[in-house]
Amino acid sequence: MSNTDIQQKDKQFVWHPFTHLKYAEAPIQIVRGEGAYFYDADGNKLLDGISSWWVNLHGHCHPYISQKVSEQLYTLEHTIFSSFTHEPAVKLAERLIGHLPENQSKIFYSDNGSTAVEVGLKMVLQYWHNQGTQKKKFIAFENAYHGDTFGGMSVGARNVFNNAFENLLFDVIHIPLPDVDNIEQIKEVLEGWFTNHHDIAGFIFEPLVQGAAGMVMYEAKYLDELIALCQQHQVVCIADEVMTGFGRTGEFFASHYLTNKPDIICLSKGLTGGYMPLGVTSCAQFIYDACVSDDKTKTFFHGHSYTANPTACSAALGSLDLMEKKETWYQISMISQLHQAFVTKHQNHFKLKHIRSKGTILALEINTEEHTHYLNHASESIATYFYKKGIIVRPLGNILYIIPPYCISESELNQVYEVIHEFIAEL
Ligand SMILES: *Cc1c(COP(=O)(O)O)cnc(C)c1O
Repeated sequence: MSNTDIQQKDKQFVWHPFTHLKYAEAPIQIVRGEGAYFYDADGNKLLDGISSWWVNLHGHCHPYISQKVSEQLYTLEHTIFSSFTHEPAVKLAERLIGHLPENQSKIFYSDNGSTAVEVGLKMVLQYWHNQGTQKKKFIAFENAYHGDTFGGMSVGARNVFNNAFENLLFDVIHIPLPDVDNIEQIKEVLEGWFTNHHDIAGFIFEPLVQGAAGMVMYEAKYLDELIALCQQHQVVCIADEVMTGFGRTGEFFASHYLTNKPDIICLSKGLTGGYMPLGVTSCAQFIYDACVSDDKTKTFFHGHSYTANPTACSAALGSLDLMEKKETWYQISMISQLHQAFVTKHQNHFKLKHIRSKGTILALEINTEEHTHYLNHASESIATYFYKKGIIVRPLGNILYIIPPYCISESELNQVYEVIHEFIAEL
């Protein structure tokens, strides 16, 4: 089919996610991926500055992972996971436990980031239910994003993403991101809740970087204080590492920056290196133990038809093999250092409201007439500017960010900085 045919049929038959249906331009047809590049139907070679949708770790169509997936496809493509098991799921669980904080002991599989979060929330509720308590309330951060299912939306920020569903979302205590100025006050408010109410079940957070909020960053030490306080009051802590996992923040998991370990950890995006949809919710032994009982009603009744899909698990195993290579960590540290140098160079730039980086994530908040907001009109014009220079970005409103695949070379990264530099100069 010609590109025009594809675009026309796309418009006729396909409904795209997060897309303003009336004014959106025809989507760009990608025909091939290789390494850090996409190739579109017009023959343009496009440097992928955002790891597709923050999922790709080692480059597109990496021969090693493709080989693993392909072998799996000729061995076992799917099996029911209740009463049955298979080697890729077991191997992956064992290896993930080896990388996760020490207190993590069980792996529960699902299909994506939202379900990984949903499972985490339900594990907490099941845990308290099985103890015969009525604890049902969650604490979450303002501006959080935890996915698009109802539980995920409930603990997420209330904004344009979920206006239509607002009255159906459950009540959550939203607290500001902690910093040096407000940490004591937040702790006081929480102490107040813990003393006066005994209904708090869990605390969910994106550790260190809030992705969809605009790559908003905060310090591990304040999160550590909040986790400590919550754990003192038996509040179960969930780290949503869907975006931050697998080296993104410079450590294998963002939780490795913490002294107080979360009880539950949600993973997805980078889990399969961007190959297959897969979600993981890991938990500490006490969460699992609460569901081990003679009483059948204490069972955790949750599962998906594609739970622990063998093909997806094989992709994840292939990606983990690459994650464990020293070359990958060399790349992660190269990207982190170059990002940091770029931040230092552009700190206090008058066209920028803020510039920041954490590990392989770089974010610039562009000064615009409009406030910083997801619907800020700057988004489309920034994306178009970069596309014309052969780079794919997808700003969150006026927040331009770079979260590249780890295979990007130093010169390719410098090319990205060069274009950012020009773009700011031309503002
Ligand atoms: C993307 C994301 C999710 C949702 O994951 P999906 O796979 O898109 O459902 C949840 N939490 C965080 C922190 C995310 O970045």
